[in-house]
Amino acid sequence: LLSIEGVWKSFHGHSVLRGIDLEVRPHEVVSLIGASGSGKSTLLRCVNLLETVDDGTIRLDGDDITDPRVRVDDVRKRLGIVFQAFNLFPHMTVLDNITLAPRRVHGVSKAQAEEQARDLLDRFGLAGKAGAYPDSLSGGQQQRVAVIRALATQPRLILLDEVTSALDPQLVLEVLGIIRELKESGMTMILTTHEMGFCRDISDTVCFLDGGVLLEKGPPEQIFREPEHERTRAFLRSVL
Ligand code: ATP
Ligand code: MG
Repeated sequence: LLSIEGVWKSFHGHSVLRGIDLEVRPHEVVSLIGASGSGKSTLLRCVNLLETVDDGTIRLDGDDITDPRVRVDDVRKRLGIVFQAFNLFPHMTVLDNITLAPRRVHGVSKAQAEEQARDLLDRFGLAGKAGAYPDSLSGGQQQRVAVIRALATQPRLILLDEVTSALDPQLVLEVLGIIRELKESGMTMILTTHEMGFCRDISDTVCFLDGGVLLEKGPPEQIFREPEHERTRAFLRSVL
């Protein structure tokens, strides 16, 4: 579904991604782990075309999205993205936040977008909150709305960058529950996380990034129980 080949990225002469290769299959959940500054967010930003790559290609359903002629909006239509700061529009209701992209970007009718949004709100236990404004919701509820908003455009792939890191432990569980439900519904996801227990639990593939190099990847049992590289072991010792 997504194919990253030989991706390099540097900022001000400093290489942040150094030849990343990664294949993501349909329905696969891939986690990126690694120390702060190892390049996890930058890799997600390259996939979402928030950054341009210096070298290499990224293909989404076979289309080279790193081709300079590609239309960024066409690519973003096929992706859902959720960041750690929820990025909800504060002056818009929950319903308007969720229906904005389907209506504006995808040309879905208001009635249809709202019907779909209400179904999603229902599914994620927020049925009563359609008319609420973001600042009247708890952090976990806001993050759930952000996930619903990403889902509302029916993306091929969802990118989740540290979606629990701004939340207190109770709310973390709430958001992790949603991600688990997304996985069960067959959604393909790439996520970055510092929650190793959750990572182990939900991932099909775990990738360890070290200084912009994808040093090691494999199923969670392998990465967490018998990592090949000393640097992976050292990282896991420092976070577990
Ligand atoms: P964290 O776990 O703290 O979120 P990360 O693995 O997501 O870290 P990135 O945000 O990808 O790390 O950053 C990787 C490196 O790239 C860092 O050294 C960061 O300072 C640098 N970097 C990221 N974005 C930019 C930018 N727009 N301009 C300059 N440097 C940047
Ligand atoms: Mg990051």
